[in-house]
Amino acid sequence: MNIILFGPPGAGKGTQAKYIANKLNAFQISTGDILRNEIKKKSNIGKQIIVNMNDGKFVSDDIVNKLIESIIFDPQKKNKLIFDGYPRSLSQAKNLDLMLEKSNQKIGLILFLNVNKETIVKRIEKRKILEKRVDDEQDTFIKRYDTYMETTSPVLNFYSKNSNFHEVDGSLKIDEITAKIDTFLNF
Ligand code: AMP
Repeated sequence: MNIILFGPPGAGKGTQAKYIANKLNAFQISTGDILRNEIKKKSNIGKQIIVNMNDGKFVSDDIVNKLIESIIFDPQKKNKLIFDGYPRSLSQAKNLDLMLEKSNQKIGLILFLNVNKETIVKRIEKRKILEKRVDDEQDTFIKRYDTYMETTSPVLNFYSKNSNFHEVDGSLKIDEITAKIDTFLNF
């Protein structure tokens, strides 16, 4: 089953995506990790995206869509895709629909981890120390949250009409969120 995990930065998408991927023997597709890896490798893409990423801005749809395409068409990963951080804009959501259709796949489940800004800001203070991400500095983080609200909220409206869309309270503890998610996986 292909799953989209949706929610603001710091909502816990990465943690839950890892859990789901492990449980379903599937693949966590984190565009944030893929992009950070391009920077680490100092690839051409890495050089193009480093300024925007460190500044908390989105990377262009063209770059992200291209990176995602090869994963979607990878036969080993077919119907085992756990999207974490993609799609993040309406154009990415439409591109994903198109690529899934072309590769004869569907989205089985869309999970929205909903958390308010105050809770997330507190959480990020801890992650900043643990993971040392430059884009977790408070100013940059708030910019990322605001960009999410502006650009990603329309994607939420796009998906929320689907019968396989479910909202989960992302302010709960990690294992409580996992337990809720389990109820959607064990049907
Ligand atoms: P994340 O690890 O999901 O919080 O993503 C970290 C950063 O990577 C974001 O602030 C963006 O700069 C970039 N990024 C991740 N996913 C996307 C995406 N789907 N579209 C554009 N930029 C992205």
